[in-house]
Amino acid sequence: MSGQFFIQLLNPGIGLLFAAAFFLLWLNRRDIYVAYAAGAYTASAVAFLILDVGPVLPNELHRIPANIGFLATGALFAAAIIGRYGLPIPWRSMALAAAASMAVFLWFLLGQPSIGGRILSISIGAAIIAMMIVRALWPLHKPHVIDRVLFWVAALSVINLTARPIVLLALGGGFDSYDGFQQSVYWTTVQFTQAMVSVLAAIGLMVAVAIDQINELRRQVDDDNLSGLLNRRGFEARAGSALRRCLDDDRPVALMIADLDHFKRVNDTYGHAVGDAIIAAFGAHVRAIAPAELIAGRIGGEEFALLVPGAGIETARQFAEAVRTGLAAAAADRIPAALVPTASIGLTIPVPGRNLSALMHEADQALYEAKRTGRNRVRTFTPASVRLAAGG
Ligand code: GH3
Ligand code: MG
Ligand code: MG
Repeated sequence: MSGQFFIQLLNPGIGLLFAAAFFLLWLNRRDIYVAYAAGAYTASAVAFLILDVGPVLPNELHRIPANIGFLATGALFAAAIIGRYGLPIPWRSMALAAAASMAVFLWFLLGQPSIGGRILSISIGAAIIAMMIVRALWPLHKPHVIDRVLFWVAALSVINLTARPIVLLALGGGFDSYDGFQQSVYWTTVQFTQAMVSVLAAIGLMVAVAIDQINELRRQVDDDNLSGLLNRRGFEARAGSALRRCLDDDRPVALMIADLDHFKRVNDTYGHAVGDAIIAAFGAHVRAIAPAELIAGRIGGEEFALLVPGAGIETARQFAEAVRTGLAAAAADRIPAALVPTASIGLTIPVPGRNLSALMHEADQALYEAKRTGRNRVRTFTPASVRLAAGG
């Protein structure tokens, strides 16, 4: 048994280990792109095993399944990366590229045997598939460093798959016989660079899975399921920093608190499920009419806070009126016809130096005014209204 044998086990070993790792991740997180990654590493391990460890068949026919395996590796790997971004996976184009590359490969295996021709046909086919990843990811906004890493893994694969065969064929491969090929600089370089790219890609994808998982947990922690808005925690975190940014940039900003009217009575009369339907309708309605930068959360049972960056007092008042007057229509198809839900809204805009909790307190006082003066209305906080309230 030679040292070469262990080098030959390197790629199948890496492939099988990562295939198992991605499979375990997939059991935990049923995201199809993780399954594609497991498939890609399985295909790669099988292909290297057939080529380097398995028996040599007459006419080198074992090279056919091995190279189908390499092309499948490329396609599944492309599916994993492209799938992570929820983009359509170009299965047809990939199948076409793989079929064309296999056809040329078969010609150089059975028609006009040439190792160089075979290397080029498979490398170029795989490069075209890797190019499809680059093309899919190119126009995307890449907010996280891992997005750029995945992009560059694909770009490096294209360069590796195109430049490697061309350079090495130009230098003269020195692999006239089968054994010569197996021992050649070319094949050793393939084994080495493939191992490097494999490890890099696997680590990149695993970090991506971890980041996606963390983001999902963060969303769950910050979101309110019933309304589809943020929960109190999520609202306070995001509204707090958005408010600071607005004040620092001297931009207008408005805060409002909305509270559904007579909600206890709604629950008592129509049942809790109808109450829930109104809360859900309120959330859907706000999301439907939300300005781009709106930060909206359900901060209590039937109480909502909305921060509108960029809105001065008039814009904010119009938005509050739109929230209030549109609620009944938004809820209509979810609740009994006799029930017309309404909300009261308190609104405030900050003076410099205000923090979120001071602003929430002001909006609350304006909301109290809206309730006190008859509900189903918008009231704006002014120091005068505080005096009015304090004076009775
Ligand atoms: P007001 O017009 O003064 O706001 O009267 P209200 O009845 O809405 O006010 P109150 O604060 O007394 O009651 C709020 C009610 O909201 C009490 C509670 O049963 C109901 N509620 C809180 N959370 C939920 C929820 O998640 N689902 C439903 N269906 N009801 C809820
Ligand atoms: Mg209420
Ligand atoms: Mg309330």
